[in-house]
Amino acid sequence: MSILAIDAGTTGVTAVVVTPDGRIEAKGYQEFRQHFPQPGWVEHSAEEIWQATLEATREVLTKVDAGELTAVGITNQRETVVLWDRETLGSPRRAIVWQDRRTADICDRLRADGHEERVAELTGLRLDPYFSGTKLTWLAENEPHTWALVESGRYAVGTVDSYLIARMTRGTWHVTDVSNACRTLLFDLEAGDWSDELCGLFGVPRDALPDLVPNWGEVAVSDPTSFAGLSLPIAGIAGDQQSALFGQTCFEEGESKCTYGTGSFILTNTGGRVVRSDAGLLSTAAWRSPDGEMTYALEGAIFVTGAAVQWLRDGLQIVGNAAETAAIAATVEDTDGVVFVPALTGLGAPHWDPHARGTIIGITRGTTRAHLVRATLEAIAFEVRDVLETLPELTTLRVDGGAAANDLLCQFQADQVGRAVERPEIVETTALGAAFLAGLGTGAWSSTDDLRDTWALDRRFEPAGDRAALDAAYALWSKAVERSKGWAD
Ligand code: ADP
Repeated sequence: MSILAIDAGTTGVTAVVVTPDGRIEAKGYQEFRQHFPQPGWVEHSAEEIWQATLEATREVLTKVDAGELTAVGITNQRETVVLWDRETLGSPRRAIVWQDRRTADICDRLRADGHEERVAELTGLRLDPYFSGTKLTWLAENEPHTWALVESGRYAVGTVDSYLIARMTRGTWHVTDVSNACRTLLFDLEAGDWSDELCGLFGVPRDALPDLVPNWGEVAVSDPTSFAGLSLPIAGIAGDQQSALFGQTCFEEGESKCTYGTGSFILTNTGGRVVRSDAGLLSTAAWRSPDGEMTYALEGAIFVTGAAVQWLRDGLQIVGNAAETAAIAATVEDTDGVVFVPALTGLGAPHWDPHARGTIIGITRGTTRAHLVRATLEAIAFEVRDVLETLPELTTLRVDGGAAANDLLCQFQADQVGRAVERPEIVETTALGAAFLAGLGTGAWSSTDDLRDTWALDRRFEPAGDRAALDAAYALWSKAVERSKGWAD
């Protein structure tokens, strides 16, 4: 009686098996390649995502008995657009990833044409290359031969969840959920459905889009010949951030979490109401129950946090792995005046500047690798503070995600925001959320109260440090952020 959860993230796919008491019994992981065809462009091969899904699943199946599994839940990187052939399931081109900035000009054009206000009103989002809509407009304008097959009905359009479900069911199902749909710029948030007006504006045929299904409840059954021999009900779907909100058991209005992965995402449950922010936060769907009840959230989306650590490892090659950044940063007392603004793919919340680029400032002859590594961890805490400054009523911050394993980062965070940071025992909350949804959908758990009982604290980081010095460091950060803006205009 365990649940298989597939977390198809931005850097890799994790498969976990979650037991009825909410523990992770086994885990498989497979990283996949990042393609950077031009500065500011980020692509993934859909086939590589699928193969990584199979690899991670096979790995987990070497550790548990497949006969114990009762359902599968899926969570995924959001906004990334995938096209595939409905017959062969092959993709005619690589997926355009959420981090991709190629549509900054299309966003500027739509804004100049006066569309921003209406788009924001309908979607709760803004005109930014982050979201799927303009990525599809770009494909229509730049790859007309491919797009013609979208219009003829041969190619399906979807996000990573829909693509994986298509692969798991041999193309039988073309579905998604509201937490993914609401990130496309094609979804009417209040109505809870695709919008013809928005499909028209972005030039996307509505028939190419997936059907909407609830976040939990049985949707389809996986085909064992396609999916590692498994015939399991697919019973939970959610975009990664909403899944993490669910995995942190933030079921009530006002409950919040921050996930530190490739980027960092702060979500606050706003219950049945769409709450709008004038401080750069997004309004988003959290989930929809099988009886149609919508839950919404406010979201602060920061594009590059853990990815900056990945860049230290792969780009600069000054650290061997992400985990050692804590020890390296601890060899120095401070950054010696170095500030790193990791706007590597522009700036998201609350600044929203697709033309911003990474900036390292304050370097002197005394600057060492340790200062830069420390500045990177501090930057993550500053970026999150930028968002939390817009959510003053928040008291305790629940954290999760790969980079939340970093104690120094969690302490920086508590110090910077002056609030306690709570880290649960399980930081793979994204995958946990998908398991919770699938288990709720198949009766493994009977209510959200059962799920709440499984949440266990690992460590609470209390704010410390000299307030004036912390605020002075933050003021310097804010100055550096201003300098990073508009660079690639
Ligand atoms: P995603 O789901 O976005 O792929 P994960 O939650 O798996 O992300 O987290 C991976 C990210 O976290 C990577 O970008 C990595 O650089 C960063 N990371 C992992 N461990 C640490 C650590 N101990 N300290 C800082 N960053 C880390």
